[in-house]
Amino acid sequence: MRSKIVTGNWKMNKTAAQTEALLAELSGKLPDTEAEVMVAPAFVNLTAAVRNLESSTIEVIAQNMHFAESGAYTGEISADMLLSIGIDTVIIGHSERRAYFGETDEILAKKVVAALEKNMRVMFCFGEELEDRKSDKHFSLVESQLKNALFSLDANSWGKIILAYEPVWAIGTGETASPEQAQEMHAFIRKTILEAYGTSIANSVSILYGGSVKPANAEEIFSKPDVDGGLIGGASLVSDDFIAIIKAI
Ligand code: PEP
Repeated sequence: MRSKIVTGNWKMNKTAAQTEALLAELSGKLPDTEAEVMVAPAFVNLTAAVRNLESSTIEVIAQNMHFAESGAYTGEISADMLLSIGIDTVIIGHSERRAYFGETDEILAKKVVAALEKNMRVMFCFGEELEDRKSDKHFSLVESQLKNALFSLDANSWGKIILAYEPVWAIGTGETASPEQAQEMHAFIRKTILEAYGTSIANSVSILYGGSVKPANAEEIFSKPDVDGGLIGGASLVSDDFIAIIKAI
């Protein structure tokens, strides 16, 4: 059985005090759930978030990391730094990192390897732009993103990989992939993994959907057989909305 996961990506939002307040609200209202619940606050708020959630089942994860062990990379954060504050899951490949910070498949492949070498879990994000979908290139684009960043990994590494399919045209736009579009792509992703790594890995990797998931559409998206949860941006910044999405799974 693969894990169900709901993750809030807080991006560059919330001061220290606001982060603390939101965490308190979330842990106070968290429903009983079999799903893993994760939040990714900004780097400066991670240490406090880990402390604040010490007695909660909510996991604190990072939004990004660098591939180098250490060194002259001003403004960057290493795997060891994250591990040293109790964080062992990291988002890699978010479309905003790709679009605004020039992160290519090659860079992302290095980040994935660096995280896995430290035994971290990787939540790997990928997804097509609107033009790719309009020109019917979305399947081949997604396939190449997966292959370029992940398909050099050995089979054992896949136990540490969580996938998050996020069509770029649906992120922060209010436009969501229909549940059928999400299921169609998730089934394609699973088939692509099956062809490369076999049934057992394909059936055990969690594939999350991300892109304008809200309380109103979460249940229908999560009901699809190949959708194992969600990566939530905007709606995860409001405790009642994020809690409603967690309940939907
Ligand atoms: C995201 O940033 O990963 C995301 C899915 O954002 P939103 O839910 O706001 O579309």
